[in-house]
Amino acid sequence: MRIVVLAGGIGAARFLRGLTSHLAAAAPGADVTVIGNTADDTTLFGLRVCPDLDTVMYTLGGGIDEEQGWGRAGETFAVQEELAAYGAQPQWFALGDRDIATHLVRTQMLAAGFPLSKVTEALSVRWHLPIRLLPMSDERVETHVVIEDAEAAGGRRAIHFQEYWVRLHAEPPALAVIPIGAEDAKPAPGVVEALEAADVILFPPSNPVVSLGTILHVPGIREAISANERAPVVGLSPIVGGAPVRGMADKVLAAVGTDPTAAAVARFYGPDLLDGWLVDEVDADAVAEVEAAGIRCRAVPLLMRDVPAAARMAAEALALAAEVRRG
Ligand code: GDP
Ligand code: CA
Repeated sequence: MRIVVLAGGIGAARFLRGLTSHLAAAAPGADVTVIGNTADDTTLFGLRVCPDLDTVMYTLGGGIDEEQGWGRAGETFAVQEELAAYGAQPQWFALGDRDIATHLVRTQMLAAGFPLSKVTEALSVRWHLPIRLLPMSDERVETHVVIEDAEAAGGRRAIHFQEYWVRLHAEPPALAVIPIGAEDAKPAPGVVEALEAADVILFPPSNPVVSLGTILHVPGIREAISANERAPVVGLSPIVGGAPVRGMADKVLAAVGTDPTAAAVARFYGPDLLDGWLVDEVDADAVAEVEAAGIRCRAVPLLMRDVPAAARMAAEALALAAEVRRG
């Protein structure tokens, strides 16, 4: 069984840990390819930072800070403290010492001419990942969020997604979300091939706009998903009981005119893309609405409290895929 998973950061990483745990027991021969969002990437102090790829890598490699859900376990911040002592900006983005090592290796390899896909493969070796991790593209794609700014020309201003999310805590309303460069980007080597060969394609509980939405904006990716008629596409709702489980997905959903409900997110992806959708048990009322939209839907527990809970979610997603395949 060849499984392809599109991935953002924390939601995707925790789901993937459940998926690989489930597969280790239920289908040891299964092969998992992960297509990671790179539109959150940024350059800080000359270092190329790929937050979503690193969250997946650290989580599956056993190096994640469990409490926080991102960053390295046992992290220290000596470099950041020294930067602060110099008054160097920005200071709102946490750069841990261990994490900086990852960014140094990445930046050095990129400067030597390796594409991000090769760099990601090289970084992954250290972590003995049970999956293959591919960036969605080797080219630069950068999500910007348009917010109101009385002082800017036209009364609005576009800022990097990280500034919106981390510095401003998604407090100003997001007027629009723009994946700059996405339209001209090509899928990274292996991405289209993996989608074409997939037996199942999964959308984990990731941010539908700024994580999976940007991946789907890269020309060729959505087309490859639709062209694979053999592989059911099953997603899991990141919205439970009318709110994101963590983070501020409701803010960016508003920018694309989508309500923060499990059913609205299913309709946002739409029946052209999704064959099946899992909602949490508290959203059992949404099942009929999603099915009326032409997407098979089940209500199951969707809170990833621990790895076994995430593994049960993965098993449910694969069961729904099998059900869709049977027709
Ligand atoms: P990010 O890039 O780190 O923001 O991570 P993702 O895009 O992969 O995932 C963010 C989404 O995961 C948010 O919208 C959360 O609501 C969702 N999420 C986080 N934990 C859980 C969980 O336990 N269950 C469900 N259903 N969704 C979750
Ligand atoms: Ca992210």
